Amino acid sequence: MSDTTLIRNGTLVLSGEMVRADLVLRDGQIAGIVAGEVAMDLDGANHETIDATGLLVLPGAIDAHTHFWEPAGDQDKEGFAAGGAGAVAGGVTTVVEMPQASPTTVTAEQFRAKVARIEAAAIADMALWGGVIGEPAQPEADILALAEAGAAGFKSFMASSSRSFPRVDTAQMLGAMRTIAGLGLPYGIHAEDDALVLAGIARMRAGGRTDPLAHAESRPPLVEEVAVATALALADETGCHVHLCHVASARALAMASGARWRGVRVTVETCPQYLVMDTGDLERLAGFARCAPALRDPDEVAAIWDAVLDGTVDLIASDHCGYTVEDKAAGGKDIFAAPMGLPGVQTLLPSMFDAAVVQRGLPVPRLVEMLCANPARVFGLYPRKGAIAVGSDADLVLFDPAETWTVRDEELHHRQRWTPLAGRTLTGRVTRTIRRGETVYDGTVAYDRRVLAAPGSGRFLARGYGVSG
Ligand SMILES: [Zn+2]
Repeated sequence: MSDTTLIRNGTLVLSGEMVRADLVLRDGQIAGIVAGEVAMDLDGANHETIDATGLLVLPGAIDAHTHFWEPAGDQDKEGFAAGGAGAVAGGVTTVVEMPQASPTTVTAEQFRAKVARIEAAAIADMALWGGVIGEPAQPEADILALAEAGAAGFKSFMASSSRSFPRVDTAQMLGAMRTIAGLGLPYGIHAEDDALVLAGIARMRAGGRTDPLAHAESRPPLVEEVAVATALALADETGCHVHLCHVASARALAMASGARWRGVRVTVETCPQYLVMDTGDLERLAGFARCAPALRDPDEVAAIWDAVLDGTVDLIASDHCGYTVEDKAAGGKDIFAAPMGLPGVQTLLPSMFDAAVVQRGLPVPRLVEMLCANPARVFGLYPRKGAIAVGSDADLVLFDPAETWTVRDEELHHRQRWTPLAGRTLTGRVTRTIRRGETVYDGTVAYDRRVLAAPGSGRFLARGYGVSG
């Protein structure tokens, strides 16, 4: 087996530019970015050559928001191996996994158990969020110990979500921000106002509404705006880096942008479901399109796109959840009976390439910022992850920008083989994914579009990985 790989004739997407050059990979890292002539001198030596003629060579995407659910307990619906298979098949080489699990990751001991599961089962490289919960109130020592164990950031819910992950109230969030500000880590907030969510659902129930749109009407964008205003005020007060998860409100995005101009440390994430789906999809797909925040009407979607294109949005993540078809079908009779969350780790890159680059003309390097460099920066993984640069991990995606294809459930590699995007025609397809120099997915028909990585070959990325080694 050769230890040097040459990627020839591709168009490399570097920071802010695209260049025609060859890549030399050695020992899992990028060893050289070279002009064709130099690369050709390596011909005949002990190496593998990959021809990337006509292809873009992108850094592996980083999905900053996944729910693969390990240890899984009674939620054994995804897992690090299957979720990671879906990730690499979609060009995602690193995920930042959320703390929801059984139990939810709120202590260093639970965190270390999760790291052990990564070492046993992961396919994608994985960093981990730690959880901050309100009930029982979490001791500051647990937050400090999670950071010590290598957490990439912390996550809290402002609205009630799952029973295993109790929300924080405003006072608890203020306390957590003081602690997390001292650690210099990002604090991810699911920003929906709890009282408004509960009142909205009660209002729908009282009106006998269980139809799909009742979900969206129960938690309109105002629910996000109120919560984001609170989170930003606390961030301003404490200096904590607040990362707003899955923002789906144009006014909340404008507030975040304004706060940033005033010097508040805030980063903003949105998801493909708020960009390529809308309330029409919620009506059509019912429970299979139920997520929180809810899908928005087309005007709101257009305004969220403006924030993507003008740079307000730092990163796009999937918020991938592995619910079963049976789970989601329950929403057909009563939308509130379907659990909230959608699969998306495998469609993240191709759906965003199609929607942003092909349909809206976003330059490819700008998409790569949102899918690779910016998530790497926020979670302390840059520049070893999220960039094509000498010394970076050789995490790469060979991407055919011209191939048009149709999304089909049968080609999904995550455990729950359905997607709300099934049937859509996209332009731009992953043809090969390389993780630390190893081909982990071959997207050609000849190779059956196969995931080649073994469970356990994914690596745990402790905070600081980006500048170590
Ligand atoms: Zn989530």
